[in-house]
Amino acid sequence: MTIVPARHAAAADETRRHVLILGAGIAGCSLAERLAARGWQIDLIDAADGPGAGASGNHAGVLRPLPSLDDNRMSRLTRAGTLYGWQTIERLRREGFAPRAEACGVLHLARDAAQESKMKKVADTLALPPEQLRYVSASEAAAIAGCAVRNGGWWFAGSGWVQPPSLCRALLASAGAHARAPLRTHFGAHVERIDFATGRWQACTADGRLIAAAPTLILAAGTGITQFPAAARLPIVSARGQVSLLPAAPDSPPRVVVCCGGYVSPAIDGLRCAGATFAVDDPDPSVRPTDHAENLRTLDKMLPGAGTGFDPAQLGGRVGFRPASPDRLPIVGAIDHARRLFALSGFGARGLVWSMLVAEHLTCVLEGEPSPLTQDLAEAIDPERFALRPPGAGRIDA
Ligand SMILES: Cc1cc2nc3c(=O)[nH]c(=O)nc-3n(C[C@H](O)[C@H](O)[C@H](O)COP(=O)(O)OP(=O)(O)OC[C@H]3O[C@@H](n4cnc5c(N)ncnc54)[C@H](O)[C@@H]3O)c2cc1C
Repeated sequence: MTIVPARHAAAADETRRHVLILGAGIAGCSLAERLAARGWQIDLIDAADGPGAGASGNHAGVLRPLPSLDDNRMSRLTRAGTLYGWQTIERLRREGFAPRAEACGVLHLARDAAQESKMKKVADTLALPPEQLRYVSASEAAAIAGCAVRNGGWWFAGSGWVQPPSLCRALLASAGAHARAPLRTHFGAHVERIDFATGRWQACTADGRLIAAAPTLILAAGTGITQFPAAARLPIVSARGQVSLLPAAPDSPPRVVVCCGGYVSPAIDGLRCAGATFAVDDPDPSVRPTDHAENLRTLDKMLPGAGTGFDPAQLGGRVGFRPASPDRLPIVGAIDHARRLFALSGFGARGLVWSMLVAEHLTCVLEGEPSPLTQDLAEAIDPERFALRPPGAGRIDA
């Protein structure tokens, strides 16, 4: 647990407990829910017509950890994010909201025998509770998946899939229900400029119209964050990803999420979500048959035969742009301490895994409360970390 310095704490000053959140993807919606629970006044702005329209708009994504032998920062942050994420989903359900998600289990298969033995060693070494991580042989994996597999791997029994737009809507419904002041949403409002004047951040349209203003501004704009000069130095790049939607009979196998160089969900409303491609600096928003073909090849490697029988030219799908950081960790914290400007981005391929947890962390920073993150994890996601590194350090990958 981290004791956060009180320099951002606004608790003592009620007039400052008003925030502008720019971006209503999974990041912005998670933060709105956390701040509303603490009684903050919130103006939430997005260019789209509703929440979860950007990278957070897929039919299904995977909420699961990524273990490693040395239990490194990435592993600990994905484990904490997964546990916190599923707890949040359960809490939303108890409150009467209904995010589409199912902790059906996630099977992460090894690509070959050498990787399988490493995965076994990781599971043996970490010795986590079995619902968090267990090694399974190929025959056990096949029984879980309900179809043939080439190798064994990791079984995350407590993990599963989430439909991000429905989670965004549930988070905002909860935020609206808890907010002391009404949650103000400004959809269909593209922010062209942000200006700081007389102690308040102002978000304005291209024709200079003021959308909203508040003393604290959180940039949760996904890949759009670097358009603003105040955030332009953040090393966030856009990584295009396409998922393919595969027609599937209800209850047909696999009935769990399966991963191996990609992922495939169970049938959700008659469609499996299979993906995803990953291409840095490819701004093409169109769904491409060549990318469907790539997803089908990945699926076939994962589950022999599962990717055959589909025509890439006929498949549905969706393209999104991941806000990727060089070290594959999110970028969360102050980018201008004095003027109360914060970043909540850099989620790359794991925004579902991290957003809910780091939104609680950022809320603790703003409130001057102890954070759920250990000091080293809080520092690992702080935007200031990049100022300490030589230019060009790190790499971008999936
Ligand atoms: C194909 C694909 C598959 C993925 N699979 C998974 C997965 O299985 N598991 C997982 O954890 N993660 C997955 N991810 C990653 C995850 O979806 C992202 O990390 C996450 O959605 C990022 O959320 P965000 O809120 O930061 O950004 P976004 O969801 O993109 O939200 C940003 C919002 O800001 C708004 N905005 C931007 N600029 C402006 C502006 N100037 N004015 C007004 N509004 C603005 C946009 O309209 C948008 O709604 C996947 C991503 C893709 C693309």
